[in-house]
Amino acid sequence: MTSALVVGGGPNGLAAAALLAKAGLRVTLLEAADEVGGGTRSHEALLPGLLHDHCSAVHPMAVTSPALRSLDLARHGLRWRLPEVDCAHPLDDGSAGVLLRSVEDTARMLGVDGARYRALLAPSVRDWELLAEDVMGPLLGVPGHPLLLARFGLPTVLPATLLARLFRTPQARALWAGVAAHACRPPSRPLSSAIGLGLLTAGHHAGWAVAEGGSRSIARALERVLSEHGGEVHTGVRVTRAAQLPPADVTLLDLDPGQVARIYGDRLPPRVRAAYTRFRRGPGAFKVDLAVEDGVPWTNPYARRAGTVHLGGAAAEIAQAEKDVVAGRMPKRPFVLVGQQYLADPSRSAGNTHPVWTYAHVPHGYDGDATEAVLRQLERFAPGTRERVTALRVTRPADFEAANPNFAGGDILTGAETVPRLILGARPARDPYSTGLPGVFLCSAATPPGPGAHGMCGAGAVRSALRHLGVLRPG
Ligand SMILES: Cc1cc2nc3c(=O)[nH]c(=O)nc-3n(C[C@H](O)[C@H](O)[C@H](O)COP(=O)(O)OP(=O)(O)OC[C@H]3O[C@@H](n4cnc5c(N)ncnc54)[C@H](O)[C@@H]3O)c2cc1C
Repeated sequence: MTSALVVGGGPNGLAAAALLAKAGLRVTLLEAADEVGGGTRSHEALLPGLLHDHCSAVHPMAVTSPALRSLDLARHGLRWRLPEVDCAHPLDDGSAGVLLRSVEDTARMLGVDGARYRALLAPSVRDWELLAEDVMGPLLGVPGHPLLLARFGLPTVLPATLLARLFRTPQARALWAGVAAHACRPPSRPLSSAIGLGLLTAGHHAGWAVAEGGSRSIARALERVLSEHGGEVHTGVRVTRAAQLPPADVTLLDLDPGQVARIYGDRLPPRVRAAYTRFRRGPGAFKVDLAVEDGVPWTNPYARRAGTVHLGGAAAEIAQAEKDVVAGRMPKRPFVLVGQQYLADPSRSAGNTHPVWTYAHVPHGYDGDATEAVLRQLERFAPGTRERVTALRVTRPADFEAANPNFAGGDILTGAETVPRLILGARPARDPYSTGLPGVFLCSAATPPGPGAHGMCGAGAVRSALRHLGVLRPG
């Protein structure tokens, strides 16, 4: 029986392992932590019964991911839950940019900007079922729907600040700036619209869904598919040297390129080792999980019903904060993402105490304390929040790295969203998953299509591995 080894059990490693096992290979997965999941884990560290996601929280890309869909995770207990309002972006005057599930309803909320919003998004949202495989695959591959992809892709090339000029109202501009800021890329740079447009398009198609029972439900469902097909998982095994790895016909690495360079050393072709060693890391995240009695008292009523709330004020303020963070300066008012997953999934609350998930964009490796800055941003748009907080738990950039070396310096996107990375992945190569070592492939979020709990990097690497084994035709 052909064997496969997967190192790292994040959503990409798990998806790769499950797909390989389903294809009939004997799969072993090695995971450093004491449970699989990587960026799809959840905890009850603040209060028993109060459930916070460690990392990923909101899953428009995962719901529409062709890889996850092909694994029929619903059969293994995964249920998606949708909030009433997908995302709200409050402003200082009490108004907000509001993202609703449908393009039409969102356009209506955006008033004079509605028509342009509709024109930008409606066609690709309508065609997302056809587009998803192309958008969530290697950009340099042969697209299944080139014309649809070109129409989706053209505006993604623009700097987010330029695209913001489509809109006239501060609400529409801020809403766009907040969604585009998920890229952690200075919004004045080319391609800084790509991740925001992907999120909006997938989100209007499927909603900004959360997983019932926490993002760990995604990992658990993937692990069940793997074991159903005979795969084995070994936790508590941190791989630091290639000599530790048992022999296998193919090896897939759910690791950041820097680790791969250290683990394989001079076994890698020199140009690959150099590219992996030089691979640029992005800004960090500083996370503050809160237990909040009766929830956050937002001034804006839509924010009270929103699964995600973006805090950063006007578009220009967010642009400056993001520029600072990328340049290594901690802004006084950082961009903060707030998750109120319990609104869609009430099973996460403990009575009237609700789990509120927040993190700020901070410079790479930031070693200061951003807790106050996060709380100040909350107070700015929800005065009285502090009095309702009964417990909090901080995860600094160094804590992210200690828990998962892929998140070095707190870079939760497994690499800076530079133009080469957005187009090519970890290095320029015809096959972005190839490490240059026969049978050894990279499958982490450093490869196309990049960060997220969608499993599509794993699926791309599986295709390369099956081609190597002669199971799939080259191409
Ligand atoms: C705070 C935060 C918020 C986020 N929000 C979202 C969101 O809302 N939506 C979204 O889609 N994405 C979000 N993300 C990003 C998402 O979590 C990641 O892009 C995703 O988890 C990447 O998956 P992966 O499988 O490539 O790697 P990872 O999730 O990093 O998993 C890698 C796994 O490999 C293990 N590992 C690492 N090194 C070794 C080693 N040497 N030996 C053995 N095992 C090893 C790790 O322990 C880990 O389990 C967020 C991330 C964070 C941290």
